[in-house]
Amino acid sequence: MKQITSIHTSSSQPQKLAALRQAHQDWVSAPDVLTRLTRRLSTTLSLETQLGVLADELDQIIPFDSLQYRHRIANQDFVFSTGMGGPHRCEYRLNLEGEHYGTLTLNRRQRFSEEELQGIETIISVVICPLRNACQFLAIEQTALTDALTGVANKRALDAELSRSGQLADRHNQEYSLILCDLDHFKAVNDKHGHVVGDHLLQMAASAMEQSLRTSDSIYRFGGEEFAILLPLTGERDARDVADRLRHAIGGIRIDCGGEALSVTTSCGVATHLHGETSEQWLARADEALYQAKHHGRNCTQVFASIR
Ligand code: GH3
Ligand code: MG
Ligand code: MG
Repeated sequence: MKQITSIHTSSSQPQKLAALRQAHQDWVSAPDVLTRLTRRLSTTLSLETQLGVLADELDQIIPFDSLQYRHRIANQDFVFSTGMGGPHRCEYRLNLEGEHYGTLTLNRRQRFSEEELQGIETIISVVICPLRNACQFLAIEQTALTDALTGVANKRALDAELSRSGQLADRHNQEYSLILCDLDHFKAVNDKHGHVVGDHLLQMAASAMEQSLRTSDSIYRFGGEEFAILLPLTGERDARDVADRLRHAIGGIRIDCGGEALSVTTSCGVATHLHGETSEQWLARADEALYQAKHHGRNCTQVFASIR
């Protein structure tokens, strides 16, 4: 790597500043790949962007047909992939100071030579620290958007996604629906069986709902015993069916409480996004429908009927 001009402590202030300017100039215009790579990686904490930079720089020295990176971060699979396979493959488990930071795989049609493998390893030794930082940043970001008890997304994630979905619905004139699910008489569950059982039931309810949804749908813990579900490309009628499916999934849960099988029912409110309405208005209509479901005796679904 290029030696950065040293700034002598004995130099005068103007000399130090001139040396700093020169060092910066050298750093910015350094032609070598490692300086350019580290400089580009240092501009972002996005793991995806960093891997794009790595793929771009690596391909200029050691051409490959596909690069794949996999890592499990905060209980979610992160996958980055460019290009299409090839029968020859080299794979590296990225470890730093005893911690694992994912697996990098390169494929191509020609065999990798020994020199090329050494070159890849040199580049990995340079990118591992920035990649570690990006992994840790992503883990913190995901943790901030995840409910600790149930592992589903939290209210903060819902706020961001509601506004994004509303904009998409408006821009593309697509139907998006929101379901609010509230477990019935949950306070009585806690009172009778204790919070540990209540917590377990909440975890099972979240998991039952996750398993009943399509991958394009997303679930959020909205409050204590309330969950929100966002359904892209789904109108009122289908959203009602989904809500009923979720109610049945939760209703099928049984927890053995010393000979007694504990179960719970759920009330659901559905609102399909109306053109131009804010997230708050959309949410308020789903909440109103949920209120109506409670009012109608619970264990049912109510739709906030839209007049278009
Ligand atoms: P309703 O049918 O009207 O919704 O009645 P409810 O009892 O479910 O509603 P209420 O709002 O009166 O009580 C909600 C209960 O949910 C009270 C609270 O103890 C419980 N709860 C909220 N968050 C948690 C949690 O994280 N764990 C447990 N175990 N219970 C929780
Ligand atoms: Mg409730
Ligand atoms: Mg509630």
